Parts: sequence; structure tokens; C-alpha cells
Amino acid sequence: MNKYIQAIRENICSICVDSDENGVCTLSNKEICAVEHHFPKMIDVINNNETESTDELIVLLREQVCAECNSQNTEGNCNLRDDANCSLDRYFPIIAETIRKVDSEA
Ligand code: SF4
Ligand code: SF4
Repeated sequence: MNKYIQAIRENICSICVDSDENGVCTLSNKEICAVEHHFPKMIDVINNNETESTDELIVLLREQVCAECNSQNTEGNCNLRDDANCSLDRYFPIIAETIRKVDSEA
């Protein structure tokens, strides 16, 4: 798991709009990063499905992570997603690419 966390810091935090110029997260203690919050399930979605299709992976993310996230309502809508305020949703394609690259190098 540590190798994934390291790769996420290097490849996602470094470009995240919620990080400073050094890639250090600027969220306050009261804010939650969805990438961190859903980390194990996010890894499962990426590792337990072999699809190369980003669209299919996003459907799986919605089904397996968003469906159980408190930010999504019963209609399947999420204000954070709509406002591009969810780091997991915002960077999911590059997150998936990063995790698979780590696995391919293992
Ligand atoms: S919000 Fe999440 S992805 Fe963005 S810099 Fe902070 S920890 Fe990294
Ligand atoms: S897009 Fe919304 S429902 Fe999905 S993980 Fe992010 S905050 Fe949760």
C-alpha cells in the first residue's frame, strides 16, 4: 500500500489544485481528501478489474465507491462531483494509470 501512497503523492498531489507549489496538500484538518478517504476501495476498483477503458472504470467507481459515499444522494447525484470538488473524481483516470504503472513495475 505504501508504494501506492508514494506514487499518488508524486503523481496526483503534485498536480492537485489543493496542493501548494511543492505538492504539499493544503486542505485543512476539517476537510477530507476523497482519494485518501476511499483509498482501499479505490485501489480495489482499479486492481480487481482488467478493463483498459477509462469510461468503464469510472462506471465501476460510481458503483463501488460513490454509491457508498456520504456525499452522493439517493438519486446518485454528488454536488462535490458536479463542482469538480472531489479529488478522486477529478483525477481518477490518472490515478488508475498511476496505480497500474506501479503494479507493472513490481
Ligand atoms: S486533496 Fe488529496 S490529492 Fe489533492 S493534494 Fe491533498 S491529499 Fe493530494
Ligand atoms: S464523486 Fe462524490 S460520491 Fe464520488 S467519491 Fe467523490 S465525493 Fe464521493
